[in-house]
Amino acid sequence: MEIVELAKKLISIPSYVDAKVSEKEFGNFIYDFLKKLPFLTKIKKQKVEGDRCNIVASDGFKPEILFACHLDTVEPRGWSINPFKGLINRRKNKLYGLGSNDMKGGIAALLTALQDFQKTKGLMLLFYCDEEYNFKGMKKFLEEYKISPKLIVAPEPSDLEIWNGCRGLLKVSFRVMGLTGSSSRPEKGKNAILGLVAGVNYLPERLKKYHSKYLGPSSCNLSSLLGGLSRGRDKAGFPIISRRGDSIPDIAEATLDLRPATSVLRAKQVFQILNKFLTREGFKLEDFFVQHDLGVFYTKPSQLKLVEEIIKKTLGEAKYMDLPKKGSYTDIQLINEKLDVPCICFGPKGENRHKANEWVDIRSLEKTKEVYKNLIKKYCQS
Ligand SMILES: [Zn+2]
Repeated sequence: MEIVELAKKLISIPSYVDAKVSEKEFGNFIYDFLKKLPFLTKIKKQKVEGDRCNIVASDGFKPEILFACHLDTVEPRGWSINPFKGLINRRKNKLYGLGSNDMKGGIAALLTALQDFQKTKGLMLLFYCDEEYNFKGMKKFLEEYKISPKLIVAPEPSDLEIWNGCRGLLKVSFRVMGLTGSSSRPEKGKNAILGLVAGVNYLPERLKKYHSKYLGPSSCNLSSLLGGLSRGRDKAGFPIISRRGDSIPDIAEATLDLRPATSVLRAKQVFQILNKFLTREGFKLEDFFVQHDLGVFYTKPSQLKLVEEIIKKTLGEAKYMDLPKKGSYTDIQLINEKLDVPCICFGPKGENRHKANEWVDIRSLEKTKEVYKNLIKKYCQS
């Protein structure tokens, strides 16, 4: 199948995750596609959760290169066109659609590259669930497979640049308890909302020392905040927060999303910094809950000389991504940490990843395909 036609087909199969939709149907399409390739002798569905599966395929030889592709996309939100139609603007060379850029375009490039082979030696393919959500697919894969390929490639959109690292991901939620009193005498109480905000504003200064030469500064985003007057707890044990607004708020809860630039900064450090500050200011930190506590990934260019050479030969130049300015967390970090293998993301150009009206540059799909083909040729010579 031709690359744009295949990308359109992939876009037409929803693979976001909610109560009704999952990666199942998309995974089945990939499974059937791989079944038709004669050199892939082992193709397996690995159950992740419910009807959600990873697809793991190989040519039966010891893996030399692994392509790790996520099946899921984010949910469609705010689109002004149909996100599953795969609309094309020929003049601008753009293909629109949910996942067109992240990462169904890259998957289309990989699958069409595979069609040009009769035989490989050392090729392994992983199509996995839940990259945009809670990383269950990658975690499941790593539970079962202990492999040591020479290179792992994720077809994430990278503007045809070598994306060789990312900051980690810490997601924590917590409550700050203060002291209520009359709204007319704010100085008599301890305003939990203001205490929480002061704690969050105190963090950046303390995060300065967690800076990386390669990945830039660590950052912190206050991503949700709710506060008011505490009215006990509901049946599930969650605090009931009154929004009446006639008292000094004595409870505030928040979620923080931090992107550590070094793996030394983990949830434990964040807890210690916040707890020390809030205690000193007369507040109490409670129910500190860690949703994600993930480190960084970084593959040194010195480990990627062969990749550089292949990309340079194919495209005329090999550029590295400006990591402090671009890129976001990818669960390739998990595989990099566990298997300690050089990893890169490499894929097409495009925009609006994780946003409405996402698109991929059609010409860059062809270039991506050529790079994958030459990588497979080099790493899987029989
Ligand atoms: Zn992605």
